[in-house]
Order: sequence, then C-alpha cells, then structure tokens
Amino acid sequence: MSLPADSKDRKRIPLTTGVLDYFPDAVAEIARVSFIGNEQHNPGEPLHWAREKSTDHADCISRHLLERGTLDKDGMRHSAKMAWRALALLQVEIERAVVSVPLPKEGSGLRNVSFDLDGTLAEPTWPSPQIGEPIKAGVDLLLAYRYDLNYEVIVFTSRPASHREAIRAWLDKHIPGVVYDIVTDKPRAAAYVDDRAITFPEAIEKVADGSR
Ligand SMILES: [Mg+2]
Repeated sequence: MSLPADSKDRKRIPLTTGVLDYFPDAVAEIARVSFIGNEQHNPGEPLHWAREKSTDHADCISRHLLERGTLDKDGMRHSAKMAWRALALLQVEIERAVVSVPLPKEGSGLRNVSFDLDGTLAEPTWPSPQIGEPIKAGVDLLLAYRYDLNYEVIVFTSRPASHREAIRAWLDKHIPGVVYDIVTDKPRAAAYVDDRAITFPEAIEKVADGSR
C-alpha cells in the first residue's frame, strides 16, 4: 500500500488523527486479536496474517456480531474479533479491486466462468499428482469474477477424473467455498481462463492481416 504522493491528497487520509485517535482502545483490541490469533494459528512463528487459513470473513462477522458484548472462549471480545474480520474483509476487497478483469464476450448468456488449474490457479506440477502452490494473480482473478462480477466459477482441467478429490481438497484449503464444480471434460462457460489459451478466431485474423 502507498499513500498518495500529492500532499493535499495525503491529508485526506488521516491515518493517525482519523483512525488511531478516534478508536485507540478498539485498535489496541484488534492488535491483541492479531497477537493471540498468531499464537493460536502460527505457534512459534513471527507475527503474520495467515490469510489462507480462514477466508470466510463475512460469515465470521455475523457470528461475532450475534455475540457482541460477550467474551469468546479465549477471553477476547467477540466485538474485537468482528472488527478484525471487518478489516480483513475490507483489506482483501481493496487488494482485489486492483485486478483488471476482462469481461466475457457478449452473447453467451452464461453466468459462469471456467478456470484452468495447472499454470493458472496453481503453480504447474503436471503430470505430478501433487498440485502446486496457489498463483496469487490467478486466484485473485477467480475471486474477482466470483465476487465483483457475480459469475459462478468452475475449475476445468485436463487432469484425470481420479484427481478430483485432491483438487477439491486443494480448493477447500486455498479458496474454500468459491468453486462449485470441478470438471475433467471441458464444460460450457462464458469464458475460459487458461495459461495455454489461444483465442479463436482472433489469432487467425491477426496472421491474416499481417500483424505478426
Ligand atoms: Mg494449464
């Protein structure tokens, strides 16, 4: 994150006087939630936000909201955890907003987008049955289609059907609750996002008009 270079614009974002000075006790509680959460989820590791371990911020916000005014089992205020989750939701949303999302071609009428796995969502390891680490840009693009443009998302892959369970486990770990289907035969979709795609007929027309 960088603050605006223009000093007038920067003055419109009063991080200290408009956030810390407004909510000193609340911000201190949120810092405590980060500290305790790190000890619970990343024991022995330096303080960091293990983003992939829990992504269901919207549902957690309502869960903690219902218990506002009371303490959770670990002694933390439910309202502090709710505020922490609200910051996480906002942070992820703002980071995602910088992804520019190509709109599917008009006319299909379909409301789903189909994502390739290896080389698009996961570092390529094919033909190993192991699935690679997530590729952040691909995962962010998937989340943008799902949440910013409201498309359903499916994963299509040329891995064999016997890998479906491993793929589901990978999705549940890295992007839980987002992908509704895994298909090992190419499905109908408004758009296909693939590291090996050739868009037809544009590729042919480019050759025909001498542009490469
Ligand atoms: Mg691929």
